[in-house]
Amino acid sequence: SDHSLTYPKSPSDMDWASYYPAYAAKVDESEATVTQAPKEEDASKQITRPVEIADIGCGYGGLLFALAPKFPDTLLVGMEIRISVCEFVQEKIRALRHQNLATGAYQNVTCLRANTMKFLPNFFAKAQLAKIFLCFPDPHFKARKHKARIVSTTLNSEYAYVLKPGGIVYTITDVEDLHNWMVEHFVAHPSFKRLGEEEQEQDVCVEVMRTETEEGKKVGRNGGQKFVACFRRMEDPPWP
Ligand code: SAM
Repeated sequence: SDHSLTYPKSPSDMDWASYYPAYAAKVDESEATVTQAPKEEDASKQITRPVEIADIGCGYGGLLFALAPKFPDTLLVGMEIRISVCEFVQEKIRALRHQNLATGAYQNVTCLRANTMKFLPNFFAKAQLAKIFLCFPDPHFKARKHKARIVSTTLNSEYAYVLKPGGIVYTITDVEDLHNWMVEHFVAHPSFKRLGEEEQEQDVCVEVMRTETEEGKKVGRNGGQKFVACFRRMEDPPWP
């Protein structure tokens, strides 16, 4: 149950600075003018750049920890519904930041607890994200459970809303039926176009997704298949 979860009223209400303290916007009192100074109560919430990569249902964070050093100038967030798992990832981030104080590594990654099937647009503004990862989502095999899948026509519209044109949704699963389901729903959505095989295989994130997620490693150990599909957020057509 997620009744204890809280959500920001809007993306600007989100206290990102507490998640990325190294990127907290500093308010210089001497230079602050009426036009450029954030409102007093917002000052602590501001960060110097927007979050651009989201790992939906990040689990123990393997993907995040592998991607963070590859995208040192980009902010990454993992979103996870299980409290203990989310705390594990936060604890690991604290430790990695502490071990890497000299270089500042891992300051660009965080994890927050959320049910991503609800209120995703409360966290991210329209066209904010460049990449969304859906790695080994729970398959919910039974037909009556399909509505619990994190890919659906409705949720795809939310992913389309928070992604910028040109942004990419990455999917991977070992369940062929779920793979077909995800492809079917994204291909049918007017905002998305599937990447071709060649472009997909050239993307460094695809290799990371196959090898660095906990589920990806498990499936690899068991000799299972991994099905990958990536989808580009297209420009919205002009108004008639
Ligand atoms: N992505 C990780 C990986 O590839 O190793 C974890 C995959 S695990 C099978 C699915 C994860 O999604 C679990 O950690 C689960 O708690 C999380 N999850 C399921 N539904 C969610 C939701 N609505 N919001 C956030 N996380 C969710």
